[in-house]
Amino acid sequence: MIVIAAFVVAGLLIGSFLNVVIARLPEGRSLVRPGSACPGCGAAIAWHDNVPVISFLALRGRCRACAMLISWRYPLVEAVTGALFGAAALAFGPTLDAAVASALLAALVAITLIDLERQIIPDAISLPGILAGLLANLATGRVSWLDSVLGIVVGGGVFLAIAVVGSWLAGQDAMGGGDIKLAAMLGAFLGWKVLLLSLFVSAIGGGILAALLMGSGLRGRKDPLPFGPFLAAGGAVGLFWGERMVRWYLSGFGGS
Ligand SMILES: [Zn+2]
Repeated sequence: MIVIAAFVVAGLLIGSFLNVVIARLPEGRSLVRPGSACPGCGAAIAWHDNVPVISFLALRGRCRACAMLISWRYPLVEAVTGALFGAAALAFGPTLDAAVASALLAALVAITLIDLERQIIPDAISLPGILAGLLANLATGRVSWLDSVLGIVVGGGVFLAIAVVGSWLAGQDAMGGGDIKLAAMLGAFLGWKVLLLSLFVSAIGGGILAALLMGSGLRGRKDPLPFGPFLAAGGAVGLFWGERMVRWYLSGFGGS
């Protein structure tokens, strides 16, 4: 219980940092300096007004200096990250596995928000992420090194193939290079078997939402729908339930 609470608090604090990453990393700005300031009036935000979620509620979502509305996205990112870290502690116990899972989840939260906002997945997260996934598995032994390397190859390869065939068929970029590197990163962390399951979950989720959006006329066939958030969600599903689902599948759907 204490472990889970500690992970939730760590997640809230990391979530607060992720808000900085999401806003600054794509623009190449420093993640450390300057400190947080109101985008409206430029007033520096004191530490006691920067407590995850709580400050947002205490200030009723407004800047203390100029009363400009603060986006609900900030406390949402903090709360979601806190919840995901707590879930990792619940699923993996007080282990290095839980810390690795939390690191992956933090990267996926940042990637999701950046891709939704700007339709890019920064190499600064996905490329070190590939190496981090492999090294983490070498340290924990959760996924064998071969399984992890194959995950990188399969993740990168599948999406490279989709990108090549897509641009050949449609004459446009069906799949961005960012998706290729994100899939390779997921493969490094999850291993190739769980990765395939994650890709399957992503494709189903993305396909259903795309069909709904097109069917409802909210989006046309040509409007791009960023795939990164679906990959991230599929990766999280694989992280928490992948091994169980792969075992169930290999055992013949739980039959005798
Ligand atoms: Zn302000």
